[in-house]
Amino acid sequence: MQEQTNCYDVIVIGGGASGLVCALELARSGKKVALLEKEITFGRKILVSGNGECNFTNRQVSPEKYYGDKDFVASALDRFNVQNCLDYFSALGLLYKEEKDRFFTYTSKASSLAACLTCALKEAGAELFLQTEVSKITQSSPKTFKVYSKKGQMFYAKNIVLACGSPAYPQVGGTQAGYILAKSFGHTINSVSPALCSINLQEKNALSRLSGIKIFALASLKENGKIIAQEAGEVLFNNQGVSGNNIFSISRNAKKGQVLELNLFSQFSKEEFSAFIDERAQKYPKRKLKDFFAGILADTVANLMIDFLGFKKNLLICDLSSQNFARIKEVLQAWTFKVEGLRPFEQACAAKGGVDTKEVQKGTFCSLKNQNLYLTGELLDIDGRCGGFNLHFAWASGFCAAKALLAKK
Ligand SMILES: Cc1cc2nc3c(=O)[nH]c(=O)nc-3n(C[C@H](O)[C@H](O)[C@H](O)COP(=O)(O)OP(=O)(O)OC[C@H]3O[C@@H](n4cnc5c(N)ncnc54)[C@H](O)[C@@H]3O)c2cc1C
Repeated sequence: MQEQTNCYDVIVIGGGASGLVCALELARSGKKVALLEKEITFGRKILVSGNGECNFTNRQVSPEKYYGDKDFVASALDRFNVQNCLDYFSALGLLYKEEKDRFFTYTSKASSLAACLTCALKEAGAELFLQTEVSKITQSSPKTFKVYSKKGQMFYAKNIVLACGSPAYPQVGGTQAGYILAKSFGHTINSVSPALCSINLQEKNALSRLSGIKIFALASLKENGKIIAQEAGEVLFNNQGVSGNNIFSISRNAKKGQVLELNLFSQFSKEEFSAFIDERAQKYPKRKLKDFFAGILADTVANLMIDFLGFKKNLLICDLSSQNFARIKEVLQAWTFKVEGLRPFEQACAAKGGVDTKEVQKGTFCSLKNQNLYLTGELLDIDGRCGGFNLHFAWASGFCAAKALLAKK
């Protein structure tokens, strides 16, 4: 009897971004679906995303915005692109707004988007289980999975979707549990570490003076003089280092011992910038060094820069040696810091690594280890840049897995 009531066509494990979309698509096509979520609400990461405003996709979504197998990403984006995503959420009743290519909820509340998904799920007849943490999955026959919850419940299904996410942000549900479940089916987990987080720098004492200051810069991570990752955008100083969208995007590659180089004037070539500074020096020969940067650098940044260079603030421009001028030009286009390391998973928005995508079929998200198992979202070894790309991949993967399940004979 218990087997009948607790028996489903599909059990989706994880009620986050990818699991919600997957369960919704299946339920509204008539499948008997259970969505099992360990937390007290669905989509807890959605609720904190985009500083609570939910940056749910981006006009620039393309495989190039992702790390990992780009063909694998393309197979999902081909089936669920930006317009599909906007149409999808519009059809669920969501109003949205666009800011510099990023799409947010119109209400500036992530809960608006989460509510659209959960209302639709209930209306579609999916069976929703909160505070239900899956601890183990076994197969009693090739076509029947037995799913055990930590509280001792038992569920049965013909197909399983693992949508458990990554260990990033454990405060809202991030966990390694998905990797353990995937491993139990023979999947390989590629080394996992924090991504989309602040980079800690060794010069934190000096930099604490800049805490809260934002500058525009081209940020480059360098190892033995070679650029490992590079991205332009706003850099926000904090009391341990730097954050900001571009820093978040390159953080997955940051390691102790590397150099972070900030080019504060990347819009100029080296020669153009040299000419620009020479022209200013001719125009303001009697200015003190501390005033020379007026209009091109924030006061705090200029003062720290002067200290960093070891110059006196009252030095007149006309008294600067050509060697010191060259040093100023060099530092403004290549201000270097030593990388101390990354923030822990508690402060990371995503994870680098995860289930090896070579073991998952492109476009269907079906496991190549078990034809009735599907894996979606951040659980996989795919991570996107900052700007709505990670949620987009999560929606896309959940959507594709559902379509593949529905097409199954
Ligand atoms: C602070 C923060 C801000 C972010 N902002 C953005 C943003 O603005 N734009 C963007 O694109 N991305 C953003 N992200 C990333 C984005 O939220 C994730 O990439 C996305 O949610 C991943 O979706 P998912 O379905 O793979 O996993 P999740 O959304 O994490 O869902 C996984 C779910 O599975 C549940 N679960 C795990 N194990 C079990 C188990 N054993 N049994 C039952 N349930 C289980 C978890 O509790 C969780 O609810 C942000 C992330 C964080 C942490």
